[in-house]
Amino acid sequence: MRLLAVCVALLLTRCTDPPAAVAPRDAATDRVDVPAAAPDVVEVTDHPAAPDAPTDPTRCATPDACRWIEDFQRDVVGRLSGERAITSGVTLTRRASAAQRETARSWLRDELRRVIPDADYHTFATGKNVRATLPATVGVGASRIIVGAHYDGVPAGPAAADDGTGVAIVLVAARYLAALPRRDHPVDFVLFDQEEVGLLGSAAYATTLRAEGAAVDSAHCFDMLSFDGNGDNAVELWSPTAGLEDLYRRHGTPRGIPVRAVRFASSDHQSFLTRGFAATGVGEEFVGNDHTPHYHRATDTFDRVDFGYLARMTRLALDVLEDRVVD
Ligand SMILES: [Zn+2]
Repeated sequence: MRLLAVCVALLLTRCTDPPAAVAPRDAATDRVDVPAAAPDVVEVTDHPAAPDAPTDPTRCATPDACRWIEDFQRDVVGRLSGERAITSGVTLTRRASAAQRETARSWLRDELRRVIPDADYHTFATGKNVRATLPATVGVGASRIIVGAHYDGVPAGPAAADDGTGVAIVLVAARYLAALPRRDHPVDFVLFDQEEVGLLGSAAYATTLRAEGAAVDSAHCFDMLSFDGNGDNAVELWSPTAGLEDLYRRHGTPRGIPVRAVRFASSDHQSFLTRGFAATGVGEEFVGNDHTPHYHRATDTFDRVDFGYLARMTRLALDVLEDRVVD
Protein backbone atom coordinates (compact mmCIF):
# COMPACT_ATOMS: atom_id res chain seq x y z
CA MET A 1 0.00 0.00 0.00
CA ARG A 2 1.06 3.53 -0.54
CA LEU A 3 1.90 5.54 2.50
CA LEU A 4 0.86 9.09 1.68
CA ALA A 5 -2.32 8.18 -0.08
CA VAL A 6 -3.10 5.76 2.67
CA CYS A 7 -3.06 8.55 5.23
CA VAL A 8 -5.42 10.60 3.13
CA ALA A 9 -7.61 7.65 2.40
CA LEU A 10 -7.88 6.77 6.07
CA LEU A 11 -9.10 10.25 6.84
CA LEU A 12 -11.56 10.26 3.98
CA THR A 13 -12.65 6.66 3.92
CA ARG A 14 -16.14 7.24 5.13
CA CYS A 15 -16.82 10.46 3.29
CA THR A 16 -15.33 10.33 -0.18
CA ASP A 17 -17.24 9.61 -3.34
CA PRO A 18 -16.98 6.15 -4.81
CA PRO A 19 -14.13 5.55 -7.22
CA ALA A 20 -14.57 6.39 -10.86
CA ALA A 21 -17.60 4.71 -12.34
CA VAL A 22 -16.90 1.35 -13.86
CA ALA A 23 -17.78 1.00 -17.50
CA PRO A 24 -20.52 -1.48 -18.30
CA ARG A 25 -19.18 -4.91 -18.96
CA ASP A 26 -20.11 -7.14 -21.83
CA ALA A 27 -23.37 -8.76 -20.84
CA ALA A 28 -22.27 -12.05 -22.35
CA THR A 29 -19.34 -12.32 -19.97
CA ASP A 30 -20.87 -10.62 -16.95
CA ARG A 31 -21.81 -13.03 -14.23
CA VAL A 32 -22.23 -10.36 -11.62
CA ASP A 33 -25.94 -10.84 -11.22
CA VAL A 34 -25.96 -14.58 -10.75
CA PRO A 35 -27.92 -15.11 -7.53
CA ALA A 36 -25.78 -16.06 -4.60
CA ALA A 37 -26.02 -19.63 -3.39
CA ALA A 38 -27.66 -20.10 -0.04
CA PRO A 39 -25.03 -19.30 2.59
CA ASP A 40 -24.99 -22.82 3.99
CA VAL A 41 -24.44 -24.48 0.62
CA VAL A 42 -20.84 -25.47 -0.03
CA GLU A 43 -20.08 -25.62 -3.71
CA VAL A 44 -18.04 -28.66 -4.61
CA THR A 45 -15.71 -27.85 -7.44
CA ASP A 46 -13.62 -30.96 -7.42
CA HIS A 47 -11.34 -31.72 -10.29
CA PRO A 48 -9.05 -34.70 -10.73
CA ALA A 49 -5.33 -34.42 -11.10
CA ALA A 50 -4.22 -34.35 -14.70
CA PRO A 51 -3.15 -37.82 -15.80
CA ASP A 52 0.21 -36.70 -17.18
CA ALA A 53 1.67 -35.84 -13.78
CA PRO A 54 -0.14 -37.85 -11.16
CA THR A 55 2.63 -37.54 -8.59
CA ASP A 56 3.15 -33.78 -8.88
CA PRO A 57 2.57 -32.55 -5.32
CA THR A 58 1.45 -29.15 -6.57
CA ARG A 59 -1.57 -30.71 -8.25
CA CYS A 60 -4.49 -30.93 -5.90
CA ALA A 61 -8.17 -31.46 -6.43
CA THR A 62 -9.38 -28.65 -4.20
CA PRO A 63 -7.75 -25.75 -2.33
CA ASP A 64 -8.09 -27.68 0.93
CA ALA A 65 -6.24 -30.63 -0.58
CA CYS A 66 -3.24 -28.41 -1.46
CA ARG A 67 -1.17 -29.24 1.61
CA TRP A 68 1.89 -27.51 0.22
CA ILE A 69 0.48 -23.98 0.36
CA GLU A 70 1.77 -22.90 3.75
CA ASP A 71 5.32 -24.24 3.29
CA PHE A 72 5.48 -22.74 -0.19
CA GLN A 73 4.32 -19.35 1.03
CA ARG A 74 6.86 -19.39 3.86
CA ASP A 75 9.54 -20.00 1.27
CA VAL A 76 8.33 -17.20 -1.02
CA VAL A 77 7.94 -14.61 1.73
CA GLY A 78 11.22 -15.76 3.30
CA ARG A 79 13.15 -15.24 0.09
CA LEU A 80 11.55 -11.86 -0.61
CA SER A 81 12.16 -10.50 2.89
CA GLY A 82 15.70 -11.69 3.59
CA GLU A 83 14.78 -14.42 6.02
CA ARG A 84 16.61 -16.76 3.64
CA ALA A 85 18.67 -16.32 0.48
CA ILE A 86 16.58 -15.45 -2.57
CA THR A 87 19.12 -17.18 -4.81
CA SER A 88 22.37 -18.89 -3.98
CA GLY A 89 24.54 -16.42 -2.09
CA VAL A 90 22.14 -13.48 -2.42
CA THR A 91 20.01 -12.20 0.45
CA LEU A 92 17.53 -9.42 -0.22
CA THR A 93 16.43 -7.33 2.76
CA ARG A 94 14.76 -4.52 0.82
CA ARG A 95 12.85 -4.30 -2.47
CA ALA A 96 12.95 -0.56 -3.06
CA SER A 97 16.03 0.43 -5.06
CA ALA A 98 16.41 -0.30 -8.76
CA ALA A 99 18.95 -3.04 -8.05
CA GLN A 100 16.87 -4.62 -5.29
CA ARG A 101 13.76 -4.68 -7.46
CA GLU A 102 15.75 -6.22 -10.30
CA THR A 103 16.92 -9.01 -8.03
CA ALA A 104 13.38 -9.64 -6.80
CA ARG A 105 11.72 -9.65 -10.20
CA SER A 106 14.37 -11.87 -11.75
CA TRP A 107 13.64 -14.56 -9.17
CA LEU A 108 9.89 -14.05 -9.52
CA ARG A 109 10.06 -14.40 -13.29
CA ASP A 110 12.01 -17.63 -12.93
CA GLU A 111 9.54 -18.89 -10.36
CA LEU A 112 6.56 -18.15 -12.61
CA ARG A 113 8.36 -19.83 -15.51
CA ARG A 114 8.30 -23.09 -13.59
CA VAL A 115 4.54 -23.01 -14.12
CA ILE A 116 4.12 -20.83 -17.21
CA PRO A 117 7.22 -21.04 -19.42
CA ASP A 118 6.73 -17.75 -21.29
CA ALA A 119 6.52 -15.61 -18.15
CA ASP A 120 8.36 -12.35 -18.78
CA TYR A 121 8.61 -8.66 -17.98
CA HIS A 122 6.09 -6.03 -18.93
CA THR A 123 8.28 -2.97 -19.20
CA PHE A 124 7.12 0.60 -18.69
CA ALA A 125 8.86 3.96 -18.39
CA THR A 126 10.29 3.58 -14.89
CA GLY A 127 10.04 -0.09 -14.06
CA LYS A 128 9.11 -3.65 -14.96
CA ASN A 129 6.17 -5.79 -13.99
CA VAL A 130 6.45 -9.56 -14.12
CA ARG A 131 3.69 -11.14 -16.12
CA ALA A 132 2.57 -14.59 -17.21
CA THR A 133 -0.57 -15.53 -19.09
CA LEU A 134 -2.21 -18.89 -18.57
CA PRO A 135 -4.35 -19.60 -21.64
CA ALA A 136 -7.85 -20.98 -21.56
CA THR A 137 -8.04 -24.69 -22.33
CA VAL A 138 -11.22 -24.34 -24.35
CA GLY A 139 -12.32 -21.71 -26.81
CA VAL A 140 -10.68 -18.42 -27.69
CA GLY A 141 -11.42 -14.80 -26.98
CA ALA A 142 -12.97 -15.15 -23.55
CA SER A 143 -12.47 -12.26 -21.17
CA ARG A 144 -9.38 -12.56 -19.01
CA ILE A 145 -8.92 -12.57 -15.29
CA ILE A 146 -6.13 -10.54 -13.72
CA VAL A 147 -4.47 -11.81 -10.54
CA GLY A 148 -1.97 -9.32 -9.14
CA ALA A 149 0.16 -8.12 -6.25
CA HIS A 150 3.08 -5.71 -5.97
CA TYR A 151 6.61 -6.97 -5.45
CA ASP A 152 8.26 -3.67 -4.60
CA GLY A 153 8.55 -2.52 -1.00
CA VAL A 154 9.21 0.63 0.96
CA PRO A 155 12.84 1.43 1.80
CA ALA A 156 12.09 1.32 5.53
CA GLY A 157 11.93 -2.44 5.89
CA PRO A 158 11.91 -5.90 4.34
CA ALA A 159 8.22 -5.65 3.39
CA ALA A 160 7.37 -9.23 4.27
CA ALA A 161 3.68 -8.49 4.80
CA ASP A 162 3.49 -5.60 2.33
CA ASP A 163 3.46 -7.18 -0.07
CA GLY A 164 5.40 -10.41 0.13
CA THR A 165 2.16 -12.02 1.26
CA GLY A 166 0.20 -10.84 -1.78
CA VAL A 167 2.94 -12.09 -4.08
CA ALA A 168 2.78 -15.46 -2.32
CA ILE A 169 -0.95 -15.66 -3.10
CA VAL A 170 -0.36 -14.91 -6.77
CA LEU A 171 2.31 -17.62 -7.06
CA VAL A 172 0.04 -20.19 -5.39
CA ALA A 173 -2.81 -19.19 -7.70
CA ALA A 174 -0.57 -19.71 -10.73
CA ARG A 175 0.26 -23.25 -9.62
CA TYR A 176 -3.30 -24.10 -8.76
CA LEU A 177 -5.01 -22.66 -11.82
CA ALA A 178 -2.36 -24.09 -14.16
CA ALA A 179 -3.28 -27.56 -12.92
CA LEU A 180 -7.00 -27.17 -13.62
CA PRO A 181 -8.10 -29.59 -16.33
CA ARG A 182 -10.38 -26.95 -17.82
CA ARG A 183 -10.18 -23.18 -18.04
CA ASP A 184 -12.77 -21.17 -19.90
CA HIS A 185 -10.95 -17.88 -19.35
CA PRO A 186 -7.28 -16.94 -19.68
CA VAL A 187 -5.59 -15.66 -16.56
CA ASP A 188 -2.90 -12.97 -16.31
CA PHE A 189 -0.68 -13.28 -13.26
CA VAL A 190 1.01 -9.94 -12.75
CA LEU A 191 3.51 -8.87 -10.12
CA PHE A 192 3.55 -5.09 -10.13
CA ASP A 193 6.57 -2.86 -9.77
CA GLN A 194 6.50 0.56 -8.05
CA GLU A 195 3.19 0.35 -6.25
CA GLU A 196 4.73 2.14 -3.31
CA VAL A 197 5.63 5.19 -5.34
CA GLY A 198 2.24 5.75 -6.94
CA LEU A 199 0.70 2.53 -8.29
CA LEU A 200 2.95 2.91 -11.33
CA GLY A 201 3.24 -0.71 -12.42
CA SER A 202 -0.45 -1.50 -12.18
CA ALA A 203 -1.32 1.76 -13.93
CA ALA A 204 1.00 0.84 -16.78
CA TYR A 205 -0.45 -2.66 -17.00
CA ALA A 206 -4.07 -1.49 -16.98
CA THR A 207 -3.22 1.15 -19.57
CA THR A 208 -1.74 -1.55 -21.81
CA LEU A 209 -4.87 -3.66 -21.46
CA ARG A 210 -7.01 -0.67 -22.35
CA ALA A 211 -4.85 0.18 -25.37
CA GLU A 212 -5.06 -3.40 -26.61
CA GLY A 213 -8.83 -3.39 -26.21
CA ALA A 214 -8.50 -6.45 -23.99
CA ALA A 215 -11.69 -8.00 -22.66
CA VAL A 216 -11.25 -8.24 -18.90
CA ASP A 217 -13.56 -10.22 -16.67
CA SER A 218 -12.14 -8.90 -13.41
CA ALA A 219 -8.93 -7.87 -11.67
CA HIS A 220 -8.07 -9.19 -8.19
CA CYS A 221 -5.20 -7.40 -6.45
CA PHE A 222 -3.85 -8.86 -3.21
CA ASP A 223 -2.05 -6.55 -0.82
CA MET A 224 -1.00 -7.44 2.73
CA LEU A 225 -2.69 -10.54 4.14
CA SER A 226 -0.53 -11.11 7.17
CA PHE A 227 -2.40 -10.31 10.35
CA ASP A 228 -5.60 -10.96 12.27
CA GLY A 229 -5.17 -9.38 15.66
CA ASN A 230 -8.74 -9.87 16.88
CA GLY A 231 -9.05 -13.41 15.55
CA ASP A 232 -12.22 -12.80 13.56
CA ASN A 233 -10.73 -14.35 10.40
CA ALA A 234 -12.04 -11.44 8.31
CA VAL A 235 -10.83 -10.24 4.95
CA GLU A 236 -11.30 -6.75 3.58
CA LEU A 237 -12.32 -5.97 0.01
CA TRP A 238 -11.31 -2.57 -1.26
CA SER A 239 -13.78 -0.76 -3.48
CA PRO A 240 -15.10 -4.01 -5.00
CA THR A 241 -17.53 -3.90 -7.86
CA ALA A 242 -20.89 -5.34 -6.76
CA GLY A 243 -20.51 -8.67 -8.48
CA LEU A 244 -17.07 -9.28 -7.00
CA GLU A 245 -18.23 -8.43 -3.50
CA ASP A 246 -21.03 -10.97 -3.89
CA LEU A 247 -18.61 -13.57 -5.25
CA TYR A 248 -16.15 -13.27 -2.34
CA ARG A 249 -18.98 -13.25 0.19
CA ARG A 250 -20.48 -16.40 -1.31
CA HIS A 251 -17.18 -18.25 -0.99
CA GLY A 252 -16.22 -16.66 2.32
CA THR A 253 -19.34 -17.83 4.14
CA PRO A 254 -18.70 -21.59 3.98
CA ARG A 255 -15.08 -20.97 5.00
CA GLY A 256 -16.06 -18.91 8.05
CA ILE A 257 -14.40 -15.83 6.59
CA PRO A 258 -16.33 -12.58 7.10
CA VAL A 259 -15.96 -10.45 3.96
CA ARG A 260 -15.96 -6.72 4.65
CA ALA A 261 -16.22 -4.28 1.77
CA VAL A 262 -14.87 -0.77 2.26
CA ARG A 263 -13.88 2.10 0.06
CA PHE A 264 -10.15 2.35 -0.32
CA ALA A 265 -8.17 3.58 -3.30
CA SER A 266 -4.51 3.28 -2.29
CA SER A 267 -3.52 0.01 -3.86
CA ASP A 268 -3.20 -1.56 -7.29
CA HIS A 269 -6.88 -2.43 -7.78
CA GLN A 270 -7.53 1.28 -8.17
CA SER A 271 -5.49 1.36 -11.37
CA PHE A 272 -7.99 -1.04 -12.93
CA LEU A 273 -11.10 0.64 -11.54
CA THR A 274 -9.91 3.99 -12.84
CA ARG A 275 -9.58 2.54 -16.33
CA GLY A 276 -13.04 1.02 -16.32
CA PHE A 277 -12.32 -2.59 -15.39
CA ALA A 278 -14.18 -4.59 -12.75
CA ALA A 279 -11.74 -5.00 -9.87
CA THR A 280 -11.22 -5.38 -6.15
CA GLY A 281 -8.39 -5.07 -3.72
CA VAL A 282 -8.08 -7.86 -1.15
CA GLY A 283 -6.27 -7.38 2.15
CA GLU A 284 -6.32 -7.71 5.91
CA GLU A 285 -8.51 -5.12 7.64
CA PHE A 286 -6.45 -2.07 6.89
CA VAL A 287 -9.39 0.31 6.85
CA GLY A 288 -11.14 -1.68 9.58
CA ASN A 289 -8.13 -1.12 11.83
CA ASP A 290 -7.12 -4.73 12.41
CA HIS A 291 -3.85 -4.65 10.50
CA THR A 292 -0.21 -5.32 11.20
CA PRO A 293 1.41 -2.71 13.45
CA HIS A 294 4.61 -3.22 11.42
CA TYR A 295 3.19 -1.67 8.26
CA HIS A 296 5.91 0.27 6.38
CA ARG A 297 8.38 -0.24 9.24
CA ALA A 298 11.75 -1.89 9.63
CA THR A 299 9.88 -4.53 11.61
CA ASP A 300 7.75 -5.74 8.68
CA THR A 301 9.64 -9.01 8.85
CA PHE A 302 9.04 -12.68 8.08
CA ASP A 303 8.50 -13.64 11.72
CA ARG A 304 5.59 -11.19 12.08
CA VAL A 305 3.54 -12.78 9.30
CA ASP A 306 0.60 -14.95 10.36
CA PHE A 307 1.06 -17.71 7.80
CA GLY A 308 -2.06 -19.53 8.95
CA TYR A 309 -4.18 -16.49 8.16
CA LEU A 310 -2.37 -16.07 4.84
CA ALA A 311 -3.09 -19.69 3.88
CA ARG A 312 -6.77 -19.38 4.80
CA MET A 313 -7.17 -16.24 2.72
CA THR A 314 -5.25 -17.91 -0.09
CA ARG A 315 -7.72 -20.81 -0.18
CA LEU A 316 -10.59 -18.34 -0.34
CA ALA A 317 -8.85 -16.64 -3.24
CA LEU A 318 -8.46 -19.99 -5.02
CA ASP A 319 -12.18 -20.71 -4.59
CA VAL A 320 -13.05 -17.32 -6.02
CA LEU A 321 -10.63 -17.51 -8.92
CA GLU A 322 -11.61 -21.04 -9.90
CA ASP A 323 -15.25 -19.96 -9.88
CA ARG A 324 -14.34 -17.17 -12.27
CA VAL A 325 -12.02 -19.18 -14.51
CA VAL A 326 -14.32 -22.16 -15.05
CA ASP A 327 -17.75 -21.37 -16.46
ZN1 LIG B 1 1.08 -2.86 -0.43
